Amino acid sequence: MKHASRESDASLGCAIVTTRGDLRAVVDGWRAAGETIGFVPTMGALHAGHLSLVDAAKRECTRVVASIFVNPTQFGPGEDFERYPRDLERDVAQLAPRGVDLVFAPTPAEVYRPGSSTVVEPAKVSLPLEGSFRPGHFRGVATVVLKLFNMVRPDSAFFGQKDYQQSLVVRRMVDDLDVPVVVRVCPTMREPDGLAMSSRNAYLSADDRRRGLVLSRSLTLGCELFAKGERDATTIRERMKQLFDETPGVTVDYLSLADSETLVEVSVVTATTVALIAARVAGVRLIDNCVLGKGMN
Ligand code: AMP
Repeated sequence: MKHASRESDASLGCAIVTTRGDLRAVVDGWRAAGETIGFVPTMGALHAGHLSLVDAAKRECTRVVASIFVNPTQFGPGEDFERYPRDLERDVAQLAPRGVDLVFAPTPAEVYRPGSSTVVEPAKVSLPLEGSFRPGHFRGVATVVLKLFNMVRPDSAFFGQKDYQQSLVVRRMVDDLDVPVVVRVCPTMREPDGLAMSSRNAYLSADDRRRGLVLSRSLTLGCELFAKGERDATTIRERMKQLFDETPGVTVDYLSLADSETLVEVSVVTATTVALIAARVAGVRLIDNCVLGKGMN
């Protein structure tokens, strides 16, 4: 590490800071030296999807900051905030060899100080789909992302297409509030069998994991139907839905064919229509999506 922070831990091989002050001291030094800062916000429990965002940040910026923060305000009552996997040591061991310069791992008390009461009311695009199944989720996301942006002050920030609606909410917020950060959205990383990588996959038994493959199979089918010339959204949606009907133990929250910018449901699909699915397998909520004209990545 070139810029060891006060709290760096040599045994982990990467500088870690937990306070805004220590973060600022390091990042301000870089900025004064003319470096560009890339930022990858995460909740930890890292996998190759997160690391692909780090790689993208490394390509574009001279310094990369990753945050690890399980943000309480984006979890609803009864969701998995308490049991969300936390293993800072394992996460840092993955980030260090990838060339991350600094890990910011604040506590909830560092992020939400006593009396904290201002929030970001996210854009219209936050209302359907995830917004209707997880009320308040995107308010928590938009608020913490803006706070982290203000703490890190990156030039660019890197998000995954895996959380498609989240990336739209963040983009909209950045534009609406004139936040001086370039938002990059990177492709979804998948397991070899097609399952979108997710920290929550760790909750799945082998059987449930197999059932979870129906999400990517259904999206693949949607892309294939589009490639063969089908344009009727109802036909495509029903064929995709049929795969779920044939898979016991999986409950669909939504299966949407929507405009890729507004998320308004379409009746005629185009190359930019996005297919978005959320489904629950043994109580574990999985999401996935693809843009029909681009196919699965
Ligand atoms: P999370 O830790 O789940 O909050 O995710 C942190 C970032 O990683 C978000 O921008 C996600 O969209 C992104 N991400 C999560 N899973 C994947 C994946 N399979 N491929 C690419 N990016 C991902």
